[in-house]
Amino acid sequence: MRHVDVIIIGGGPAGISAAIWCKRLGIDHLLLEKKQELGGQLTKIQNEIIDYPGMYAENGRKIQLIFAEHISSLDCCCSLNSTVLSIDDSQKTVTVDQEGKIETIHFHYLVLASGAGQRRLGVPGEQEMLKRGEDYSATSDGPKLKNKTVAVVGGGDRAFEGAIILADAGVNVYLIHRSQTFKARSQFIELATKKSNITIMTDTQVTAIHGENRVTSISLLNHTGETSTLNVDAVFVRIGIKRNSELVEGKVDINEQGLIVTGENGQTSNSAIFAIGDVCTPSICSSIASSVGQGAMTAKYLSSLMG
Ligand SMILES: Cc1cc2nc3c(=O)[nH]c(=O)nc-3n(C[C@H](O)[C@H](O)[C@H](O)COP(=O)(O)OP(=O)(O)OC[C@H]3O[C@@H](n4cnc5c(N)ncnc54)[C@H](O)[C@@H]3O)c2cc1C
Repeated sequence: MRHVDVIIIGGGPAGISAAIWCKRLGIDHLLLEKKQELGGQLTKIQNEIIDYPGMYAENGRKIQLIFAEHISSLDCCCSLNSTVLSIDDSQKTVTVDQEGKIETIHFHYLVLASGAGQRRLGVPGEQEMLKRGEDYSATSDGPKLKNKTVAVVGGGDRAFEGAIILADAGVNVYLIHRSQTFKARSQFIELATKKSNITIMTDTQVTAIHGENRVTSISLLNHTGETSTLNVDAVFVRIGIKRNSELVEGKVDINEQGLIVTGENGQTSNSAIFAIGDVCTPSICSSIASSVGQGAMTAKYLSSLMG
């Protein structure tokens, strides 16, 4: 069986940084990324990035390209199209699906940098919508949706902010929330309620998304059990963030917010498993910079452990 001292799961900013530092510190490492390119959430950022020191980027793709070029120029060990299927913490192995080829690799230390993603509704039609590429950004797709009708689902800051951006771009917005109270900050709620092209629907759940080639309507269910259909041209699901921590469930401590509990160097409750980046960071603190910083700290700490 192949052995690697440090296996890094995930090729977003946290994993990339950990791999760069492993290389620099002479640590035998392997980064496993399930997608065909590195970058993680960077590929989805449509907004300008003005908060990463030393570079301004029009969008996440620009930083993704710089990071990918950097890691490749250093000759770090990375394997793309490699999905980690499971971890056996007692044997210290991971099982990886590399384009259909299943391999089990032994490790000394595992660094989980699997990040986070949008929580999904889990209703019929949602996966089909995403597979068709109907996963929009309010900032960059708002102008294209001018005079169209869209549903924004959720009651937090991201839902309200998205609804306001879309309304300002001339989109007719239905903001649909399953309860009567919102988690969003009061300024967003006040602003949204003043906009004539935002209709707020509370106590209402989306139960299905319809459309063959593109979204055409959604099914709704309200608290009295009444069902209805709403014609929309797009659905923005903004119901929160889900950490990609399934691989270590039951193996490390995870708190009530779904975050892996870590010490200052990324140590989890399992001495062989470390976690870095969004998978263990509250949304309010998550960023490219914090992920990169955590990757560096954990690699340096591992170097000290391995002498
Ligand atoms: C729309 C948007 C805008 C943002 N804007 C900014 C901004 O302006 N400034 C800023 O600093 N931050 C911004 N962020 C946040 C920033 O992108 C994240 O904090 C950062 O990408 C987290 O990095 P990460 O490496 O922890 O995780 P991710 O970027 O989520 O990467 C995790 C990687 O792990 C891989 N993976 C998961 N499971 C497996 C598995 N089983 N096997 C193999 N690979 C796996 C995934 O495919 C992914 O590539 C934004 C995020 C979004 C979505």
